Parts: sequence; structure tokens; C-alpha cells
Amino acid sequence: MATTTLTGGPFSRSQFESLLKRRLFYTEAFEIYRTSPNFKGDNRGLFDYGPPGCALLANIVNEWRKHFVIEENMLEIDTTAITPEAVLKTSGHVDKFADWMCKDPIKGEYLRADHLVESVLETRLAHHRSAVADSKQKNDKLDDATAKEYEEILAKIDNYDGPELGQLIKGFDIRNPNGNGEVQDPIAFNLMFKSTIGPSAASPIYLRPETAQGQFLNFRKLLDFCQGAMPFASACIGKSYRNEISPRSGLLRVREFLMAEIEHFVDPEGNKNHERFHEVAAIELPFLDKDTQLSGKTTVDTMSIGKAVETKLVDNETLGYFLARVYLFLLKIGADWSKIRFRQHLANEMAHYACDCWDAELLTSYGWIECVGCADRSAYDLSVHSKATGTPLVVKEARSEPLEITEWQATLEKKLVGPRFKKDAKKIEAAVASLGQDALGSLAAELADKAVITVPTEELANGNTSVDLSLEICSIKRVTRVENTREYTPNVIEPSFGIGRILYSVLEHVHWHREKDAARQVLSLPVLVAPTKVLVAPLSSNANFKPVVKTLAGRLRALGIANNVDSSGVTIGKKYARNDELGTPLGITVDFDTLNDGSITLRERDSTTQVRASQDDILEAIKSIVAGTETWDQISSRLPIFAGQSQDEE
Ligand code: AMP
Repeated sequence: MATTTLTGGPFSRSQFESLLKRRLFYTEAFEIYRTSPNFKGDNRGLFDYGPPGCALLANIVNEWRKHFVIEENMLEIDTTAITPEAVLKTSGHVDKFADWMCKDPIKGEYLRADHLVESVLETRLAHHRSAVADSKQKNDKLDDATAKEYEEILAKIDNYDGPELGQLIKGFDIRNPNGNGEVQDPIAFNLMFKSTIGPSAASPIYLRPETAQGQFLNFRKLLDFCQGAMPFASACIGKSYRNEISPRSGLLRVREFLMAEIEHFVDPEGNKNHERFHEVAAIELPFLDKDTQLSGKTTVDTMSIGKAVETKLVDNETLGYFLARVYLFLLKIGADWSKIRFRQHLANEMAHYACDCWDAELLTSYGWIECVGCADRSAYDLSVHSKATGTPLVVKEARSEPLEITEWQATLEKKLVGPRFKKDAKKIEAAVASLGQDALGSLAAELADKAVITVPTEELANGNTSVDLSLEICSIKRVTRVENTREYTPNVIEPSFGIGRILYSVLEHVHWHREKDAARQVLSLPVLVAPTKVLVAPLSSNANFKPVVKTLAGRLRALGIANNVDSSGVTIGKKYARNDELGTPLGITVDFDTLNDGSITLRERDSTTQVRASQDDILEAIKSIVAGTETWDQISSRLPIFAGQSQDEE
């Protein structure tokens, strides 16, 4: 996808990705094995981070902790990635956490069905558009109705299920772009990595596909930890694993990635309001809602989050609050506001647990990429785990006024049930206990009428799945009770961040090159997240510079400011260029004047302007820029500008 650099110039992905690899932001895992002839199999979608990548990742995570965990007093926990099958069976992941894939039987390749349709239709449309622009290329031109149909399909591509994707593939004769072979019908492929635990290998486990489940399972303990105060949120940062069908797009679709997730537990009564919503209500967000997508369009509507919640575009204040906080976080760490949008999930696309979902998407050269999913998971997870384990995952609150409840109650004559039903007695008791109020109401009428009722059960010893209960064994009556406590299962609002995707997208957003020389690339990372804050560079390898450089690096270290000394023999201009590519915002130069008067220069990465002052003044300036209390404009208006020869030209 054609996108622009920070300064609006054309973005070259190959130039950008070669910078990231050259500067060791990240690298393919097992690279030397991948190229060895006896290394077989699919090992795509696995990456290692190098020193600047690691530092950037750590700084983003650090900021995430400050922006969410500390700001909201969240309860951070660290849970295991190895998860017993029973947990993920209950959560629905074993049965439903799948993508649709097609096999190309000739090439033996597996392709994600929605991605296949998307890429083929996008390519056809791109050819069509250039054919329209150049009337000579007639072959690629589509008729207007087909081009419109393609655009409409692409706008709602996430809404198709497997059989529908199969119809599109057949209907539009979509083939594997690699070799043009036909593909088979889509089948569901579960994305979890399966293994077993212990030497007996008897207990199946999965590597978690999200950190959320660990948080739900600790709900009771966390509720106790915060003395039952609702609402509260837990948070977890950790690796998750998804066996992606066809990893592509570098760091954007990988099989092992760092997630940072929040589970905000809220009372479903009271409209899921948020007490700090007023703080964000005026923030304007760009929305792409589901109706717009279903009408085949991708136009974004910008409105305040206050209005979005008021008009019910966004379901509730808590979800709205987090959308706004996510937006502020993305801006803080360097995302370009014009390349952010919030896209609502379409009904079919929504995860099995969600009832409303908005993705924060960032525009990259790979298109719009989901970087943060914000889902309203309702009471789904706590309810299913509670039912599966018999552990009530509920909140109990004292009522201000006692509540009188009149309802149907079924009572079994225990003395008769045991002797008559023997081994089946427990199943019958459970079946009666699970009857809802509506069922009890109609059974009560039936019992009064016929003196016997039929209750559905689990399979009994005689193979039946229901039992007849007579009036002498079972009675159903209206009873009134008084409740002094209220019991409810909280709903969960979940913002879920893929840190690697955010990191990559932000790097694209802050990338540009100097006007005079396109080969000189810069990453304008905010100081807050830049891997290294200060370059310390002697003008040359003159031995007299060494002690000053050593002292400066020591003083920066003592201030806790990440710095990098470059004493290599290259020119100062080259040292600056290298550090511009690493996103280092500030550079100190030690030169011959330093040896005379102790002064040093400080250069700012984006403007390349410099100031000159004493070491104390420069360190003070660095300290305040790193702390965010002063900007470069403020520093350069109070310290003397250094107007010597621009070393950037070297
Ligand atoms: P989901 O649970 O699918 O909504 O994913 C939550 C977040 O995890 C997404 O917003 C992404 O940022 C991230 N994510 C999901 N799958 C991958 C992947 N294969 N590679 C990298 N990040 C991913």
C-alpha cells in the first residue's frame, strides 16, 4: 500500500526494513539455520529483537505500565503461558479459535482464505485502476459493476465465514497467486499450539493465545485483594502464541508475540458507566463503524467520544473511556494521529466471547493493521469458568435496602429420590436445580394438572434423557425470600495490545529522510520511547577527548539516562547519521573548544540545530528534555545557539 513518511514524502518499505535490520532492531530467528540446506519445515513468523529493538520494546511497555496500570491502579499479574486443555475448552478456544484456510494441492501451500480473497481482489483492482489511467492497457480493465462489487467485498472482508469465502473464491475464480493453481474449499484451522505436560504426556496443554484467561481464573483472589471494591481492572504483560496459517508482513503477523492486556471488571447494572469518563469525553476520535463497512465504504467519521457514547455508536462509557485512553497512549509513543482509526467489528468477525468490539488500527505500508482490540466480553468468561469449576466467580454486595423476591421453587422429596432412582439420583437433583423460572412456571401448571411432570436430564442408567416425577416426589411452589446481599457476575471490558505490531507501525510512522539526501534516514521517535536518549561523540579519535567523554557518559549514567558513546574513527557527521537511524534524539559533541573552556555542544536530531554551553548546563537541559519538562524550542531559546560549521554536512 502506498503510504507516506513523517514529512509526507513517498515511503519506501525496502529502504525502511533494511534500516531496521541493519541497525538490528530485529532479525529473523534462527537465521543461520534457515539458510542451511538440512533445515526443513515452516519456521516463518519468528523474530528476535536486537539491542535498539529491545530497548524500544521495553520503553513502550514501561510507558504502557505508567499510562494504564499506574494511572488506573490496575492489579498487574504475571500468569503462565502453559495452559491446561480444560481451561481453553471451557473458554471456547479449543472449539472456536480458528481461521479459515485453503490448500493449494499442487504447490502444497496453505493460505488464509480471507487474505487470499483480499490480496487477489486488491491486485485486480490495482491493475484496473492503472488501466483506467492508461487507456492502452485494456486487458486489466474491469467493468464498473465488478469493480464496485470488489470494493464492497473488501470493505467487509472480515465479515465472511468459511463457506462464504469459498463461494467468493469459486465465484470470482480466485487462485493461489503463487503458480495460479486452484485452491480447495476453506476449512477451519485452530490457531493454538498443542503439547503435553510431564513425562507421562497424559495431560494435554496449549500455549496460551491470549493472557486473558489467566486473569479470569484469578478473579476471586484479585477481588479479595482489592477488598471487593468494584469496578477494578487486572493487567498482564506476557508472550502469547498463535500458530498463524501463513505468517507474513514481518513483525505484524508472527507466531510468538508480546501482549499487554487489561481486563476491566464492571457491574453490568448502571450502564457500565466510568467515573473518569468526563476527563476524556471531549477527545475527538476517528470512527469507522460497522454500518459504513457493510455499505461497502471505509469513510471515517470523527466525533468526540462523549458524543459517540451518547448516540450509542460506542456502547458504553467504560468501552469509550478505554478507546480514548488507547488513543492518547498511541499518540504518546509516536503514532501519527492521521494514521489512526477505530474500526468496529462486524457481527461475524467478532470473537466468540465478545458482544461489541472496536479495533485501534494503524495505517502502515501493509494497509490498516489492528494493533489494539477493545472488546466488551460481557459476563461470558467468568460465567463459563464458574459453571465448569463450580467456583462462583461473582461479586457479592450488601444491599442498601433488603430485596423481597417471590419466585418458583422446586423441592424434591429426598427420602424418596434416593431409594427410587439410586445411581441416577444426583443427576436428577442437578436437572431439577438447573430449571429456570420460566420452565418452573410451566411445570408447576403441568404438575397441578396431571400430577406428573417430565424433566430433561443427562443420560440416565436406562439410556433415557428425561425422567417422570410425580407429585409425591416433586413439588413446585411460589415462595418469597428476602435478599440482603446482591450477587452478580461482572462484565469485562478488555483492551488487548500487541506490542510488536504497535512497535513496527510506530517505526513506520516516525520514519523519514533528509530533504538533501534521501539515503539519510531518520526515526523521529519521541524521547520517551527512544532506545537511547543521548549520543556522546568526540569530534575525532584525539586521545585528549577520552577523559571528558568518560566523565560525561558517567554523569549521564548517574542520571539514569540511556546513552551511547561513539568513539569510532568515522566523521562526526557519520556518527550523527548512524544515531538518527537509531532514533537517538540528542547528541553531545566534545571538540577542541571543550578542551579549552569545558563547553560542549548539544544537537537535536530532527532539526539538527545545536546549542553550546557548559557541561552542567547541557546535562541540566538533557535532564529536563528526557523528563518532558522542557522542549527543544525552549532549550534552544535559552542556551546559546552553536552556529559553527554544520557537522551534519560531513
Ligand atoms: P485479538 O485477541 O485477536 O484481538 O488480538 C489482540 C492483539 O494481539 C491484536 O490487536 C494485535 O495487536 C495482537 N496480535 C494478534 N495476533 C497477532 C500476531 N499473529 N502477531 C502479532 N500480533 C498479534
